[in-house]
Order: sequence, then structure tokens, then C-alpha cells
Amino acid sequence: MKIGFIGLGIMGKPMCKNLLKAGHECTIYDIVEEAAREAVGAGAVKCESAAQAASGRELVITMLPNSPQVKQVVLGENGIADAMDEGCIFVDMSSIAPLASKEIGAALAGRNIEMLDAPVSGGEPKAVDGTLSIMVGGKKEVYDKVKEVLLCMGSSAVYCGELGAGNTTKLANQIVVALNIAACAEAFTLSKKAGVDPELVFDAIRGGLAGSTVMDAKVPMMLDGNDKPGFKIDLHIKDLKNALETGHGVGMGLPLTAQVMEMMQQLVADGFGGKDHSALVKYYEKMTGE
Ligand code: NAD
Repeated sequence: MKIGFIGLGIMGKPMCKNLLKAGHECTIYDIVEEAAREAVGAGAVKCESAAQAASGRELVITMLPNSPQVKQVVLGENGIADAMDEGCIFVDMSSIAPLASKEIGAALAGRNIEMLDAPVSGGEPKAVDGTLSIMVGGKKEVYDKVKEVLLCMGSSAVYCGELGAGNTTKLANQIVVALNIAACAEAFTLSKKAGVDPELVFDAIRGGLAGSTVMDAKVPMMLDGNDKPGFKIDLHIKDLKNALETGHGVGMGLPLTAQVMEMMQQLVADGFGGKDHSALVKYYEKMTGE
């Protein structure tokens, strides 16, 4: 397929490379000049604007930080809404607010452009391997048209419902991941403080009920003091804010989410916003002097 790909950061770059590997033609754009380099090396064509990357394409994919960036790239000045051909399918794979997906989709519908929201889970390693979990919202018949392309980047794609349902599903994912990281940070700092080697605690409990993909991926980083992102704390706060707003919209409080978001915000104040979300352990290290 002729694909336009916009946003070649930690996730977008390997996702685009997997599309190229599968034989798709990609025109690409990122606001940071350097971000396009590797994908160009893999056969992509670099463009000077998002609009140029989207023009004449059958499918346009965005992988951007949050709702404001997606809105700006699609509907802003020189946005891709005016550049995409009628009949082009737009798939936003960023994690954004479900309400923003609906607003963007409604604006595009008037131009005969269908939109899906298809955020992903699995982080950089699974983006590289092409084994992401993809959660999709939008019209089922539109999803059926691009499912095969999405599966060049993921090992599973689940159709979750109407536009916005992909991002609502992703918010559930982000709550579980954030609370799981917080639980690991709290538990492993306690074991250290109480005099038991956290490496041994990890070996002892990871195969039991407490074990999780999050524990396996993030606790070794905590114990090694490795905070290279991965998934940045700034971006996780964005997701938790979107979750709280979505909860507000349906009249539901999210007390655990609010608590972990506050802890992450404290870390941003301490200069860790660009670090991996596993750096949440530093909140406890500061508290205990460990
Ligand atoms: P990132 O910050 O590494 O990448 C975002 C890219 O978008 C950057 O290269 C940036 O230059 C580009 N960009 C920003 N504004 C732009 C604009 N106006 N026009 C063109 N390019 C622009 O972030 P990431 O980790 O790749 O995450 C991207 C999305 O995927 C986010 O919504 C994030 O929540 C989600 N996500 C990330 C992970 C992860 O582990 N990193 C996992 C799942 C989902």
C-alpha cells in the first residue's frame, strides 16, 4: 500500500520500518529532522511537511505524543486533512483522549476520509519485533480494509468498537501498567529497606501470582538504575490525565490513578519527566533515602 507515516519517535520509527519490510511504500515526516534518518535508510521517502507525506496516499498513519499534536497535524494550518485524497483511510496509532479521536473523525467524515483510532501496547521492544498489541476503534468495515497492514506492526489487533474505543481500551491498559509499576516500586523498595536483597525477591516472586509482564520488563530496570526510555514519564502522565478526564466524563473517580499520577508529577518536578516510567522507583528512593 502507499502509506504516509507521521511521527518517527521511539515507537513510530520501528513501526514504519516494519511496514517497509513488509513491502509497503512509505512517505514520512517528523518535526525533528534527524528522526527520519533510519527509516530513510530502510527505504522510506522523507517529506518536508506532514501534508506532503499524506498527499496521494491510500493510508496515512500518525504516531504522535498526544491529542494536541494529532489535532494540529490533521486539522491545523497546512494539516493533512486538506492533503489526503477522498477515500484515503487515516489511522491514528498515538495514545490520545478518546474524545479527541471522535472530534478529529467527525471533522474528517465531512471530507469523505474514514478514521480509525488504533493505539498500541508493548513498548519499543515489541514495536521493533512487530509484535505490538493493537486496539482498534472505528467502523468495522474500515478496520477490515487495513487489518493486514496493521498486523505488519503487531501480533494482535482487537476491534473494540466505534471511534474512540481503541483509546478507551488503551487508557485501561495504561492504568494497569502505571499501578503495576507503582506496586513494584513500593514492594521492592520495602524489601531493600527491610534488608532482603531485591534481586532475590524478584527471583522468588516473579513466577507466582504477583508476576507480570510489567514486573519482568520494569523491575530489572529499577534494580539496575537504568532509566533510559522506553516509555517516558511525561507520556504516562498524559495518559493518566486522559483517563481521569474520561472518568470525569462518565461520572467515575479513579483514586488509584490520581495517586500514581501525583507521584509521577513529583518526579517531573525533580527532573525525571524524560526518563522511563520505571523511574517511579526514585519516588520511593527519595522518600526512604535508599
Ligand atoms: P516520542 O516522543 O519518542 O515520539 C513522538 C514523535 O512525534 C517525535 O519524533 C516527535 O518529534 C514527533 N512529533 C511531535 N509533534 C510533531 C508534529 N507536529 N509533526 C510531526 N512530528 C511530530 O514518543 P513515542 O514513545 O514514540 O510515543 C508515541 C505515541 O505512542 C504516544 O502517544 C505514546 O503514548 C504511545 N506509546 C508509546 C509507547 C512507548 O513505550 N514508548 C508504547 C505504546 C504507546
